[in-house]
Amino acid sequence: MFEKILIANRGEIALRILRAAKELGIATVAVHSTADSEAMHVKLADESVCIGPPAARDSYLNIPALLAACEITGADAIHPGYGFLSENAKFAEICTDHGVVFIGPKADHIRIMGDKIEAKRTARALGIPCVPGSEGGVTDDDEAMKIAEGIGFPVLVKAAAGGGGRGMKVAHTAADLSEALATARTEAKAAFGDDAVYLEKYLEKPRHIEIQILGDGLGNAVHIGERDCSLQRRHQKVLEETPSPALNQDQRTRIGEICASAMRKLQYSGAGTIEFLYENGEFYFIEMNTRIQVEHPITEMISGLDLIVEQIKIASGSPLAYKQEDLDLRGHSIECRINAEHPATFRPSPGRILYYHPPGGVGVRVDSAAYQGYVIPPNYDSMVGKLIVQGRTRNEALMRLRRALDEFIVDGVDTTLPLFRALVRNSEIQDGAYDIHWLEKFLAAGG
Ligand code: ADP
Repeated sequence: MFEKILIANRGEIALRILRAAKELGIATVAVHSTADSEAMHVKLADESVCIGPPAARDSYLNIPALLAACEITGADAIHPGYGFLSENAKFAEICTDHGVVFIGPKADHIRIMGDKIEAKRTARALGIPCVPGSEGGVTDDDEAMKIAEGIGFPVLVKAAAGGGGRGMKVAHTAADLSEALATARTEAKAAFGDDAVYLEKYLEKPRHIEIQILGDGLGNAVHIGERDCSLQRRHQKVLEETPSPALNQDQRTRIGEICASAMRKLQYSGAGTIEFLYENGEFYFIEMNTRIQVEHPITEMISGLDLIVEQIKIASGSPLAYKQEDLDLRGHSIECRINAEHPATFRPSPGRILYYHPPGGVGVRVDSAAYQGYVIPPNYDSMVGKLIVQGRTRNEALMRLRRALDEFIVDGVDTTLPLFRALVRNSEIQDGAYDIHWLEKFLAAGG
């Protein structure tokens, strides 16, 4: 097992990793930018190193500074969290070259899944059902038109290097296609430095359902149920739940087995998520994330596993300690991503938290690095924390969420807490009757 882990991240996930490392008896090193010197993960870590100025490219994305911090502190492994360098294959390779274990999958797998065109090709070869679309990238507009007519409109133009919902454009009719291609290419080039795009059938009313998997790189892999992440704003997840209200046990087992078997064939190592759109009883692969995800706690709540601990054990070379049939998924869990943003306009609201009172009680978990007096810097994403609840049934989880949201107080900055208080009281949410467009429509109608 490792002696010291360097946590190459910030915010709630840095704290989450620190907690897992402490429970394994592993020493921790926090790194931080000058904007984060008062952060909770810095205060709680055994050691901390300032790695640069506020801009992420000079600090949390600064590979030489991170490796220097490993060198100075003697850390033997790096946990990248999510975002920042977590899906950077080059970084994973550089860590290995410097004798530091990257807690994550093999660099090759990160690379394949980081290119969505390559990812779809691989998924198809592994027997995972995909959204109908172009075989590879589309460069020529005339050729794109032929493919789009073959798939049938509406089609979605997507960036090969995409992430965070950027570089995606819908063409409803043939007349929209060339503009959608041009806009998606420009956006992709600006955001990712790569203008490669591909075409996909635009599904009209799907749900977003993803499967959590764990592989040990030795050919063993399990699936740990699904997460329904259909409540989205601008293609970004807002609330997630497991199990999905849309699936029955047979469907769950079938898609889970397809994913686990694909990961066995790939000899995948670490935690990963295979994302699907689900419509009319069919699953369509959209992408795979080769890292821990923001919404991982709901899977932990129903499985009893600590997914970060699992990642660390796998990276240290341990084979999976259980088989599929040993996993026992119980009850229901829901997560709300609480942002420091205005609940209606979503304008970021950085600044000092004057009063902070998180909820507690049975079945309630708050993953947050916030505290009273903490100043949320304007330099990073605006998530202040995640409220996660668990119940024996979906209804129990919803009632628990309602009372936990009512207990939660964050004063001094705007938060999206009022939005969640409205959502949990909405009858369609209570019925589980929502698709990926539901939230946008709800917000457009005034919430
Ligand atoms: P990103 O990596 O940018 O998050 P994804 O491929 O994961 O992109 O897609 C993000 C979201 O965009 C999905 O959850 C879904 O809401 C929407 N989306 C993606 N592909 C399609 C599609 N073919 N049809 C309809 N919506 C889609």
